[in-house]
Amino acid sequence: MVIKGEPNITVGILDNMPQVAGNFKGNFYNDYYGSISGKFSAKIVEGKILFTYRNNRQISSSREIKFTGGHKATFQLFDVTVGSSFHWERKETQIFKGNMILKVRRKGIIAVINEIPLEDYLISVISSEMNSSAPEEFLKTHAIVSRSWLLASLLEKNKKHTLSKSKKIISNKEIARWYGREDHDLFDVCADDHCQRYHGLTKKISYKAQKAVQETRGLVAMYRNKICDTRYSKACGGFTEDFKTAWANKRIPYLTGISDGPIQRSPIKTEKDTINWIQSKPHAYCNVHNKNLLKKILPDSDRKTQNFFRWKVTYTREELENIIKKKSGLDFGKLKHVTPLQRGSSGRIFRLRIAGSKKSIVIGKELEIRRWLSPTHLLSSAFFVTAKKDHRGEVKSFTFHGAGWGHGVGLCQIGAAVMAYRGFSADKILKHYFKGIKIQKIY
Ligand SMILES: [Zn+2]
Ligand SMILES: [Zn+2]
Repeated sequence: MVIKGEPNITVGILDNMPQVAGNFKGNFYNDYYGSISGKFSAKIVEGKILFTYRNNRQISSSREIKFTGGHKATFQLFDVTVGSSFHWERKETQIFKGNMILKVRRKGIIAVINEIPLEDYLISVISSEMNSSAPEEFLKTHAIVSRSWLLASLLEKNKKHTLSKSKKIISNKEIARWYGREDHDLFDVCADDHCQRYHGLTKKISYKAQKAVQETRGLVAMYRNKICDTRYSKACGGFTEDFKTAWANKRIPYLTGISDGPIQRSPIKTEKDTINWIQSKPHAYCNVHNKNLLKKILPDSDRKTQNFFRWKVTYTREELENIIKKKSGLDFGKLKHVTPLQRGSSGRIFRLRIAGSKKSIVIGKELEIRRWLSPTHLLSSAFFVTAKKDHRGEVKSFTFHGAGWGHGVGLCQIGAAVMAYRGFSADKILKHYFKGIKIQKIY
């Protein structure tokens, strides 16, 4: 499979603003109005975009206005919110190159979109998602993974039946829910963690990230002549997970659980297997506690999470009742049991029964389970539960004994970085996590 040259990609930068302001540094070109530079502002008036520049000159359009950036031209956007709804939320001026497109989102709300060549987008993403002191072969691995993930989702967007849609199936006995890559309608990807973190040229572009993207230009993971949907998460916990534990019920050969280490193990089958596995300390690439090493791999915001390979969380019964009530909107009454019903290869639960005095429900899949059982998110759904009871046999507290961080499907980021440290090439790392793939240059 070959794509005709490097595609352009559209990234939604601002999507919820009554008005925006910025500055064109260098020349930007519009088909009708010619060359424009300097400060600008834009808002929606009576359903139309009203773009104001130099001494109150105005352009108006009912659909969209596009400005093509000249060579070396950049544009600034003022007051862009970053880390939306996280504790580090703040506003900053961001800088981009490429084209700027304004669109009407809805009544009174404007969307600002950055259109750029895919490889430029990747350089910015790898710079902001990864620590620049991470090993080179790891950055190359991630460049190929991010590129494949993105192209697979762009190609899938045009299809009717897609595996990457969100879904919620509810009966009075069971809730199964998973979160897909919702199709953005006005652009290909957003600039937030929902897709991949993108800040254009705002932060310093790391030289190593740039080199990793350039050296892997056009390279993607392929399986049976199709670009792979290369999922990734932080740390598998020693064994990677199957696609169906987190998303639709489909077996995807290259997204099926594997041992994340030099010693091959078989997948988890029984509850006893799970308990033994979580209580053991297996040789695995992501079984790493060296603080200096982790510092080089993880971006600052992730470094607070240190015990991710094996972890433990305890709640009093009342605490857990309150968390579940808040997260699910359901009142289970006095909690009695939290029982795993079905697990995937890595031990991650995708069907879990929660039983209380008023209600008993089965929930899934892995992310919904993690969401219900923590004020934020439980690190993973690979856990077993123990309960302490009082003399009347009522539960006093629940303890979750767990393994891994994230859904565990596909590439294990921490494991991959450790492999790179030990001298494995990007090619070897990718073929370890995605069985049966080929690496191919498509442009
Ligand atoms: Zn998104
Ligand atoms: Zn791992």
